[in-house]
Amino acid sequence: MGILRTLLDRLRARRDDAAQAARATEGASASAQLLDAVIETLPDAAIALDRDGRVVAFNPLARVIAPALARGAPASLALRAPEVVEAVRAVAAGGGAQSVEFAQRVPVDRWFMAHVRPLGEAPAAAAILLVFHDLTPLRRVEEMRADFVANASHELRTPLAALSGFIDTLQGSARDDAQARSRFLAIMKTQASRMARLIDDLLSLSRVELAEHMHPETPVDLLPVVRQVVDGLQTLATDRGVEITIAPPAAPAIVPGDRDELTRVFENLVENALKYGAAGKKVELGFAGASASDGAPEVLVAVRDYGPGIAAEHLPRLTERFYRVDVTQSRAEGGTGLGLSLVKHILNRHRGKLMVESEAGKGAMFTVRLPLIDGAVAGRG
Ligand code: ADP
Repeated sequence: MGILRTLLDRLRARRDDAAQAARATEGASASAQLLDAVIETLPDAAIALDRDGRVVAFNPLARVIAPALARGAPASLALRAPEVVEAVRAVAAGGGAQSVEFAQRVPVDRWFMAHVRPLGEAPAAAAILLVFHDLTPLRRVEEMRADFVANASHELRTPLAALSGFIDTLQGSARDDAQARSRFLAIMKTQASRMARLIDDLLSLSRVELAEHMHPETPVDLLPVVRQVVDGLQTLATDRGVEITIAPPAAPAIVPGDRDELTRVFENLVENALKYGAAGKKVELGFAGASASDGAPEVLVAVRDYGPGIAAEHLPRLTERFYRVDVTQSRAEGGTGLGLSLVKHILNRHRGKLMVESEAGKGAMFTVRLPLIDGAVAGRG
């Protein structure tokens, strides 16, 4: 009897152990699933490691940073940045949370902040969580701002240096030379107006950029705007021997907008056509109707010249600040390199777009695309 009882007790105990073990396995797999789900939904790249630094879970974003990641394998095999591997080692050894910055050069330059955190109680971490915060957009903005300041200062310094040089000459060797004086003063005036234009353009650009998310809503009829711009540039056109024609739309093209800013858009485009495309002797402006992908009516206004055109490799960069195909030619024309950038930002503010088509030797066509005000229909011109 005694033996039988002991046997029964042992069997029962074993069964209880098995149930407990099953519950534990179930619990472990439930928490693994939860971990997977959490890692998956994190907006940043994330990897969970066990205390030995082996990969337990990771999300698709993490795979972009470390393509060789594999569950069960040591993370150090996949993490190429030594700073991160070192931080993981330190956290695993009970060193507390760490954040390290690192850069990846391949396939393109990217910057990250890796946050390495112990999970569970100190002293030794039960698991480790790595979250990668992408610093690339921030770095790009910083780089752009630094480039912009460098470019703007350079652009201002050139005419300033010319002005200082002429002032020195007028105070020195050319002090009593009336002829030289009037020639130098004329050049100084040109340089001073170049600086003024540059400052005007920089201010307009920053004003438009600041208000880019606010869409102007005043109804603006584009034909009178375009006519006024062409009238204003008639003297330049005559000087260059260029004839400008306007093919009006069949029905009024009225857009929600800011009249002064839209005037600025067409002024820049027509002036560029006259400055860079004068060799073609004619500039044509035309209207056409179009519709957006959601069917909303839009108007297209094209400014076409028959000058030398623009080689394909420059087209995507034309609206970058200070980008010019030929710096000397742009400077000689009084250009600042900011015109098309301003056009792009004004159009963004108007929910519009600028399209450029050109082939070297065949002229250029800049087309403005704008949503029409509700109910207005642009005719095909
Ligand atoms: P810029 O002040 O130099 O005119 P923009 O931003 O208006 O600056 O234009 C950028 C560059 O694009 C110009 O320097 C010129 O090289 C090129 N470009 C613009 N319009 C034309 C055109 N119609 N034909 C040929 N090149 C053009």
